[in-house]
Amino acid sequence: MSRYSKDWNKIACAIKQKADWKCSQCGADFKNKSSRGSCLQVHHWNRIPEDNRPENLVALCNICHLKYHRGGKSNILIGQLSLNL
Ligand SMILES: [Zn+2]
Ligand SMILES: [Zn+2]
Repeated sequence: MSRYSKDWNKIACAIKQKADWKCSQCGADFKNKSSRGSCLQVHHWNRIPEDNRPENLVALCNICHLKYHRGGKSNILIGQLSLNL
């Protein structure tokens, strides 16, 4: 947690707003959803929490986010594809 910058909440909020409060992976809409076990989170493509460049950040629901961090399925290719969006 200490690796995250002080204004991380602000940064993450801006990313979510930019993503229109939708998971960029599955499209789950969190605009009108209260926390019902799922929430929108912000993921670092390169997994470096200090790297808060907008192109390194993506809004993911906690389910998709978990998938990225589990089993090593996330590779650089997926990240690069999304960076071009
Ligand atoms: Zn999702
Ligand atoms: Zn992540």
